[in-house]
Amino acid sequence: MQATLDGFSPDSSPDSQEKVGQKIVKVAVAVPLSRTFDYLPQGVLTSYRAGCRVVVPFGRSTRIGVVTGTGETTLAKSKLKAISELLDSEPVLPPEIVELITWAASYYHHPVGEAFATALPVQLRKGSSGDVERPSGYVLTEAGKTTDEVKRAPAQTALLQFLKVSVGAVSAAECRLFDNRWSATMKPLISKGLVEKVVADFEPGEAVATIALNEEQQLASEKIHANIDRYYCALIDGITGSGKTEVYLDVARTVIKSGKQVLVLLPEIGLTPQLVSRFRNALACQVEVLHSGLNDTERMLAWHAAADGSAHVLIGTRSAVFTPMPALGLIVVDEEHDGSLKQQDGFRYQARDLAMVRARKAAIPVVLGSATPSLESLHNASRGLIDTLYLRSRAAGAVLPKMVLVDSRGGEVEKGLSNRLLLQMKQVLERGEQAMVFINRRGYAPVLMCETCTSIEDCNQCDAHMTVHAHSGRLRCHHCGAERAIPLQCSSCEANTLINVGMGTERIDEYLSDKFPEYKVLRIDRDSTRRKGELQKHLAMAASGEAQILVGTQMLAKGHNFPLVTLVGILDADRGLFGADFRSVEQMGQLILQVAGRAGRADKPGVVLVQSRNPEHPLLQVLLNDGYRQFATQLLKERDLTSWPPYVYIALLRAESPEKTGASQFLTEIKKIINGQVTDHAEISAHLSVLGPAHAPMERLAGRYRSQLLLLSKERKPLHQVLTWLRPALETNPDARKIRWSLDVDPYDML
Ligand code: ADP
Ligand code: ZN
Repeated sequence: MQATLDGFSPDSSPDSQEKVGQKIVKVAVAVPLSRTFDYLPQGVLTSYRAGCRVVVPFGRSTRIGVVTGTGETTLAKSKLKAISELLDSEPVLPPEIVELITWAASYYHHPVGEAFATALPVQLRKGSSGDVERPSGYVLTEAGKTTDEVKRAPAQTALLQFLKVSVGAVSAAECRLFDNRWSATMKPLISKGLVEKVVADFEPGEAVATIALNEEQQLASEKIHANIDRYYCALIDGITGSGKTEVYLDVARTVIKSGKQVLVLLPEIGLTPQLVSRFRNALACQVEVLHSGLNDTERMLAWHAAADGSAHVLIGTRSAVFTPMPALGLIVVDEEHDGSLKQQDGFRYQARDLAMVRARKAAIPVVLGSATPSLESLHNASRGLIDTLYLRSRAAGAVLPKMVLVDSRGGEVEKGLSNRLLLQMKQVLERGEQAMVFINRRGYAPVLMCETCTSIEDCNQCDAHMTVHAHSGRLRCHHCGAERAIPLQCSSCEANTLINVGMGTERIDEYLSDKFPEYKVLRIDRDSTRRKGELQKHLAMAASGEAQILVGTQMLAKGHNFPLVTLVGILDADRGLFGADFRSVEQMGQLILQVAGRAGRADKPGVVLVQSRNPEHPLLQVLLNDGYRQFATQLLKERDLTSWPPYVYIALLRAESPEKTGASQFLTEIKKIINGQVTDHAEISAHLSVLGPAHAPMERLAGRYRSQLLLLSKERKPLHQVLTWLRPALETNPDARKIRWSLDVDPYDML
């Protein structure tokens, strides 16, 4: 879809048509139905304000729901039930958030009650009182300020040191980012009188700009400043290290000074905890964080601090877009191209797009930032809906890495690494610098094959091969999580001739440790960092130079700053060229450049060797020789010619069933319903195409067969009209017990 969602106005749901008669309260209840439910008020109608929670009878039980409004119904009073209890005297959600969630539920055609449930912190969802203690944070006492170390307690020392370099009070949620067991670490520090808990200081300190912006940063900042009081969408298009964050900070400083709040959305926080410190220290204000690692209480505290206006900055992952912020003055969406801003299950919203909707309604600026902007945003920019602000040079004088395509076909390649890469690694290591090898595949080998009969060990539940995990001695399916011991014999012919085929991070780790025994190899992937705290430890080892060779998956690609890395090898760069999805190539280009951005950040120039089996492929050539912009322009042309987003609007109806044909039969029926509806509406049939049903790219997943129907339209309106018709048919489908289905508007991928 297109991010600004211009011209989209949701159709009124059946219950929004006011009728004369009985006064009722409309309640969004978390059940898989699109509509709200009408209830009789107890006492005065006006105390049921939108955004208040109520307990209502539902079926044979009771539920907690959110009031979305009041109205009148002509239904007989005997058919209506009364609300059991009003939980809030003041709404827990302000009108603009109720409006945003309602709008989003309508746009994404998702049950409105479930949308509200997604947006509320668990404790509020479960009905506990919205009252929490006042937002607080942790600071060093005078004694703490003069203490450098807690003897025999490294975790306490580390936390103490962290507080030492932190400006102002540090919240529970931020402590959690720093140390996953922070609560146990903090207790003794408090009892020793080194740290105290304080009610957060509501006045921001005097924030000083320590970095003088360069000319391009200055221009970007001025442009946003000039639009600070209205809706304005900027795309900061700047390579990694070009100083985008400094521009965000410069604008945020002004916003906070004027008494307003800033919302920063990121794809992931766990990978870049230093960003939070950077905001807090640069702005000297109260920064709150919402991320997936928080427990319910910490989440509630952080949410509340934003909602009562005491937090100046809220940094969060996608669901933070729904957090109430009474004085919101600016939204920043960093890494706006990243797919994790789109929720891929349940309520499938795109946080960047909702940020734009929210900013428009609040009449405030929204700043998107990326080194590799999404094709959607570039398309928007070309239509004049977004203002592009370029940062073309690296701040602090660092130079861009040189990118070289290396042919990885033929005999030169040992275990997937070309001689050229190995040779350059040797040179870099001898100079005392670091090398990084990137491969987007964890485990030891992606395939375990029998040399005698050539059969491959597959997952019993999915159409997929099992990945060999040598460290744990297991075969694992990366799609459904199934696992079993690595067999000694082929499961088809029972020969003892099983061999590993292909490379994963474990195998490259093993190979390089062998090849360069005098250097330390550090593997960073989901497996090596699974245990709590391991990721932080690994990143610290990488940044300090304690390990000289870094091997990793895309976990390495995001945001980290490794100043000593001067060589990056990207192994299977070209997998995306032949991906099954319309977005594969775009993602490939973004990933290559994000990985490349790790090299030469500081004063040392870097080199990136991109290995490919298709080095002559025109898109790879364009990406490496002419840059991301040219690459994106070509991709946009292709999308236009082949009718894919952002040139058409699409929705994907996915279905799955335990039997082979169930899902596609179901979708065939649905397609008939759509075609039946559409024939009478020329204005819709002229625009809409319904493709499929087709098997999902991986038909069988976790034992279920998957099929999909693609709805596609040049105009947004006809598509949404059809989805509005379709939803009730889906909800009342008698097959629903056997068939699981989901509707994905503006899907991120087709997988
Ligand atoms: P990005 O967000 O685009 O990756 P950052 O804002 O993190 O870039 O900047 C990269 C590095 O350059 C940081 O260490 C930052 O402090 C430094 N930096 C940014 N702008 C300037 C500037 N104008 N002068 C000096 N250093 C800068
Ligand atoms: Zn599986």
